[in-house]
Amino acid sequence: MEEQTELQSAGQWRRERLVRTALMDRPMIAQEDWCFDAATTNWFCARRDLFLADQFIVRVAGHLTPAQFDALLLTQGLQRGEQISPDLFTVRTPVTNLSTWRATLNALAAQTALVLAVEPDGVGFGSGIPNDPGFSNQWGSHNTGQSGGSVDADVDAPEFWDIMENVNGVVVAVLDSGLNFTHPDLQNLTWTNTAEISGDGLDNDGNGFVDDVRGWDFTNGDNNPTDDHGHGSNVTGIIGANRNNNVGIAGMIGGVRILVCKILNASNAGLTSHLIAATTYARQRGAPIMNLSLQNYPFSGALNTEFTACQTAGILLSICAGNQGVNNDVTFNYPSCYQQTNIIAVGNHDRTDVRWSGAFNPSNYGATNVDLYAPGRDIYSPVLGTSYSFYTGTSQATPFVTAIAAALKALHPGEAAPQLIRHIAAAVEVRAAYTGICTTSGRLNAVAAVAHALREQPQADFDADGFGDFHEYLAGTRLDLAANSPGTTNWLAGGFLHLRTPRQWRPEGGLYLEFSTNLVNWTTNGLTDFSSTNLLWQAMPVAPAGQGFLRLRAQVTP
Ligand code: CA
Ligand code: CA
Ligand code: CA
Ligand code: CA
Repeated sequence: MEEQTELQSAGQWRRERLVRTALMDRPMIAQEDWCFDAATTNWFCARRDLFLADQFIVRVAGHLTPAQFDALLLTQGLQRGEQISPDLFTVRTPVTNLSTWRATLNALAAQTALVLAVEPDGVGFGSGIPNDPGFSNQWGSHNTGQSGGSVDADVDAPEFWDIMENVNGVVVAVLDSGLNFTHPDLQNLTWTNTAEISGDGLDNDGNGFVDDVRGWDFTNGDNNPTDDHGHGSNVTGIIGANRNNNVGIAGMIGGVRILVCKILNASNAGLTSHLIAATTYARQRGAPIMNLSLQNYPFSGALNTEFTACQTAGILLSICAGNQGVNNDVTFNYPSCYQQTNIIAVGNHDRTDVRWSGAFNPSNYGATNVDLYAPGRDIYSPVLGTSYSFYTGTSQATPFVTAIAAALKALHPGEAAPQLIRHIAAAVEVRAAYTGICTTSGRLNAVAAVAHALREQPQADFDADGFGDFHEYLAGTRLDLAANSPGTTNWLAGGFLHLRTPRQWRPEGGLYLEFSTNLVNWTTNGLTDFSSTNLLWQAMPVAPAGQGFLRLRAQVTP
């Protein structure tokens, strides 16, 4: 194999090699940075990027017509490939050796009047891998200390489901290996493109994709994004596997509409060009949240540009930190290490409430480039056929965060990615184990994240039942179910008005009773909160005229 090495600095070499792998039937360039560790006097590979040897990503000048572009490529012996976005294309070359790869890159870059940017097309990976079944329940959702775990080292899923379990159609794009549409636990989960007529061979909605009724398979260039690996189904199941259907597992949230974008192949590997194309597609489809359980892609200027477009559009990108057990502040792992403010980067914690650092897919960390941790070790979720598998990886931690982001988006549709991320980040469970290895020093808690959002908009009424979200939160009724509202009873007795309503113990706020004779001026008797066990019980004197009104107010604790 042809190989080039160059000295980067004292103690660091870069090596480029032409390789063939089982990942794809395409020649690849492996670019490795080797560093010298003075302590052990060993050389080690600090970073390894893979690129296709026969394909580039090219951004063309806006005035260039396809015919002009093809003519330019012909002079270089190149061929136009796929269109990624209006001005972005892949370009194929028949020559696949290291020196012509480099020469072609340089030749395209030299066409400065016509070509705005050129880069090699990278190869990246899904980041969770299956392991042998050893545990039989969902400790990440509800940790009872099973199998040596720490009690309550979880996201508080049952407590969360007491508050809400339906996000009412929020669209989440999952960019992964596709979805197992026939799995009994993954039914009625997907977004449907009602502007597209299925199977007529026409692009009815004019978005450039023919018959894209349920997403797109970018890997194979067709409209059937069925999973052929298992990774995408596992990730999607964590977000929204059917609950209470007497089958398998319970996903974190219901009512979510998954936009399926298949960008990983049966080997769990994918191209940068397809990641860009899928992100563009999901952005243009209006998906407010995307799950990217992806790692080890080389840096791409074109993807960076697309992520900035997502940032401008307010779209939240939930991205895994990667599974090498390394510091992402030193060794950047993409796509999680792009610097847009709409990215939340997720590490993996295990059932004992520490970053998973074992030999099997250890979580990356980083005081700057990782935001928080979520359950990612031995996560049980659907895969191919009708089966389930335990996966370990930051890939599995990420969809927990994605699901909560979807819940927050449902409650507060007007909030963009930075606001949604702020609720999640401000509400982590802080532990010493996470201090210094992420920006928040903590791990995901679903209930606390929702409570943080409710405190800021206590009067919002998600299910329009007349009871504000924060009031329902204090009363312990469902925010997403109008049939479930705080029950109140009131009655006259002994010259007093009495009122009783359920009241959960919540540190974030209290219920307050006020009295009026005219529904305009309200007074309190000075008592704040009337908790007696979890009942609220108090009386106000009936007005002299014998008329009086009581009202309850839910108030955030300062
Ligand atoms: Ca279409
Ligand atoms: Ca059609
Ligand atoms: Ca309500
Ligand atoms: Ca309700």
